[in-house]
Amino acid sequence: MRSSEATRIYFDRAADQLDLSENMRRLLLTARREVQVQIPVEMDSGDLTTFIGYRVQHNNARGPMKGGLRYHPQVDLDEVRALASLMTWKTAVVNIPYGGAKGGISLDASTLSIRELERVTRRFVDAIHDLFGPDVDIPAPDMGTTPEVMAWIMNQYGKYHGFSPACVTGKPVEYHGIPGRDEATGRGVGSLTLKLLSRLGRPLPGTTVAIQGFGNVGSHTAKYLHDAECRIVAVSDAFGGFHRAEGLDVLELHRYINAHSGKLEGFPGGDRLTNAELLAMECDVLIPAALGGVLTQANAALVRAPIIVEAANAPIEPEADAIFDERGITVLPDILANAGGVTASWFEWVQNRQYYQWGLNRVRQELDRILGEAFEQVWQLSMSRKVPLRTAAYMLGVGRVGRATVLGGVE
Ligand code: GLU
Repeated sequence: MRSSEATRIYFDRAADQLDLSENMRRLLLTARREVQVQIPVEMDSGDLTTFIGYRVQHNNARGPMKGGLRYHPQVDLDEVRALASLMTWKTAVVNIPYGGAKGGISLDASTLSIRELERVTRRFVDAIHDLFGPDVDIPAPDMGTTPEVMAWIMNQYGKYHGFSPACVTGKPVEYHGIPGRDEATGRGVGSLTLKLLSRLGRPLPGTTVAIQGFGNVGSHTAKYLHDAECRIVAVSDAFGGFHRAEGLDVLELHRYINAHSGKLEGFPGGDRLTNAELLAMECDVLIPAALGGVLTQANAALVRAPIIVEAANAPIEPEADAIFDERGITVLPDILANAGGVTASWFEWVQNRQYYQWGLNRVRQELDRILGEAFEQVWQLSMSRKVPLRTAAYMLGVGRVGRATVLGGVE
């Protein structure tokens, strides 16, 4: 199923519950602007390669559009379109003053040198610098992009528009970024998982957790949950992963990937397992924190965890979602579960605009407060309307965007 069809299904469910008119549905589903640009870049070899870059600006009823920039071979317009709409609902669920956008370039970063990656990024900014900015649309990291990439974006944007640190978030702390942004998505996934466990009346210590993906989000989630006395029984990355029934040593895992260019391969502290095995593991909480579309009609019946927390964007296909619903598996949806990243991006943007700096404690406190409030609202709505958490989150997000649209008027 195409990514945009999948997000459409979830949207429709919420729109039905909210009794939205056909006209409003059409307005909310259509992107304001979709751009596709050519990015010709001279490679280190002297050869010319042409990349394709996308930016979809979905909705700005509640504020400037906001969302990550993805570097991955699977990036295409349809995927970016779906992810842009997820950002609109996500910023609305946590009630921060943004709309939604997403961008991407179809490339495999592991095959490019750092200088090539920098040139691709700067040429992309050359192509779209008039279309984004602090009050219009603010990019951020996503799969395959790093704080360093954000630094290049800010620097290149500045060549056209002058010093504008708030034109992009997720920057390095030493270059107009903020402490706490890097860990924020994982911290949010972790803290929301704890809230869910407590609401479901499940005892916390010893809760077993399997995490697919050990990049920025997966690794920080593992650390947070490990510190909260959960047992991380399996982790994986693109090559596969490791499991240990007594719990993996998360600190050791962090040390290992830091010393091995971010890769888990060869980790000595656990037994090997494949990504398919990880998804089907016996555990209390399964956290897909990598690619989209990993839980499908084909493998949904194999999942044994009673709780799934969507740290990645769109890791569950709608058919699988329906199977989980039938089986009584609780799913904490992406637009709430991974909203910690964009929330901390908002803090970065606010500080950039005020030329002021908060400390790490304040960032963490505000993040926990905002996510905690959003969780309670989604939980209450899910209980009162007797709908799954995903439908409740969409109802909250879509409802807020709909109301802002009406209040702003369309004249
Ligand atoms: N890429 C992240 C997401 O999907 C963060 C976006 C942002 O900080 O703007 O939510």
